[in-house]
Amino acid sequence: MRTDTGSKLKFNTTWSYAPAPESQDHVQLNKRYGHFIGGKFVAPSNGKYFKTINPSTGKAIANIAQGDEDDMNKAVRAARQAYKKYWSKISGAERGKYIYRIARMLQERAREFAVIETLDGGKPIRESKSIDIPLAAAHFFYYAGWADKLEYAFPNRKPESLGVAGQIIPWNFPLLMAAWKIAPALAAGNTVVLKPAETTPLTALKLAELIQDAGLPPGVVNIVTGDGKTGAALVNHKGIDKIAFTGSTGVGKLIQKSVAGTGKKVTLELGGKAANIIFEDAPIDQAVEGIINGIYLNQGHVCCAGSRLFVQESVADVVIQKLKDRMETLIVGDPLDKNTDVGAINSKEQLNTIQNYIEIGKNEGAHYYESSCALPTNGGFWCRPSLFTNTSQSSRIVQEEIFGPVLTVQTFRTVDEVIKKANNTHYGLSAGVWTDKGSKIFKLTSQLNAGVIWANTFNEFDPTSPFGGYKESGFGREGGLHGLSDYLKFA
Ligand code: NDP
Repeated sequence: MRTDTGSKLKFNTTWSYAPAPESQDHVQLNKRYGHFIGGKFVAPSNGKYFKTINPSTGKAIANIAQGDEDDMNKAVRAARQAYKKYWSKISGAERGKYIYRIARMLQERAREFAVIETLDGGKPIRESKSIDIPLAAAHFFYYAGWADKLEYAFPNRKPESLGVAGQIIPWNFPLLMAAWKIAPALAAGNTVVLKPAETTPLTALKLAELIQDAGLPPGVVNIVTGDGKTGAALVNHKGIDKIAFTGSTGVGKLIQKSVAGTGKKVTLELGGKAANIIFEDAPIDQAVEGIINGIYLNQGHVCCAGSRLFVQESVADVVIQKLKDRMETLIVGDPLDKNTDVGAINSKEQLNTIQNYIEIGKNEGAHYYESSCALPTNGGFWCRPSLFTNTSQSSRIVQEEIFGPVLTVQTFRTVDEVIKKANNTHYGLSAGVWTDKGSKIFKLTSQLNAGVIWANTFNEFDPTSPFGGYKESGFGREGGLHGLSDYLKFA
């Protein structure tokens, strides 16, 4: 219950919500999943399986095939055959029909995919339902439209497909990342081998089932599950023409070294440490919502998260107070509950990483604040939304990607000062600017070194709009025509 006292909202702490869990009745999951190769689910060559865990309970959901080089050989062979036999032979209009069918079927099964994404990854069901699954379908719809128009998309450049694309995705947006990778690759006329993240393989495997149902020719999409070694087997495979990777900067660097001199095309979407900049003339209440969405969406497991907040000194006290008040209202809890704002941390390892960074921040002398919310006590991995003030440019928590619900706050006085501070990072993926003045927006968007810059909003995604980074955030773009061109070669 809210009561307005002056300019500050008071939230009655006795208010509680009745549980509103999303039903799981419609979800069909197998106890065990093989690799998806040549249009069929097949057992792993080495017979090994690992468990995928529900991070909100710590309990196993299913057994997943552990891929090795032999599996990768089979998958790449299937993709090459499918490329030669079907996918490079059929017209762009035919390819578009298949991709369009995947998009439609994904929309039809959106609820099931949303629940599985939340079960496997820990993100709130509200986000899976309203962001991950609709955006994944939107990417298939968008790229379906380009499949028969490549000549128009790139006039006078004679676009041609590459062949077989190897794709490796992380655990923070599993289905969406699969869509970002598979949809443009297929539209451009390539076949694919995809390696999902070890902790979140389920929606990619459900997508494989959907692809079977959509009647896609066998081998056009292959999915090999496993860990980092499985990913390395794909990167190092001689039979692929392109590698598309989303994940950590460390692994991105390893991949770039492995493919140097091989002629394979590469795109890398890596880490980030985005500046979210609030000027004194910004609409403060909306900006506070933008800060919350920027850092606490998906528990902060977001490469473009607004993890470095810069507030103009004259409004710093009021912004920080409003932010803390708003943090108090966030519900951390069962990801399947529709009231939940912040779900479970994706894995025990990631929770350890976040907790380690919180200790580092405290030891560096920064002031720590966390929301006082209750955390679930029946297993699982949890972390309260938090922020650090009194941080400096050289603090590790300001420079390094934490990938959790931890915000660092700094202040600034002038436009030039904040541009310098915001650009003082190894990363360059995204940024946000909050101000009433269009001129300031233009100045910042032209001077901030970031691939995506949001003005008076944050974490907005659209398939038509390219996404990617500078510096150690990688290179190449996903989304839009830029994303399509990275799956093509030109005469
Ligand atoms: P990784 O970069 O290790 O994982 C991303 C993907 O690459 C996964 O599918 C992973 O497999 C695979 N992989 C791991 N090692 C190799 C390798 N040598 N060759 C090829 N593929 C490989 O990220 P983590 O999951 O370990 O997360 C660590 C940190 O990375 C996070 O704390 C965060 O800071 C950052 N990160 C950034 C992301 C982004 O979108 N920018 C996304 C995810 C993480 P597997 O899952 O089996 O290890």
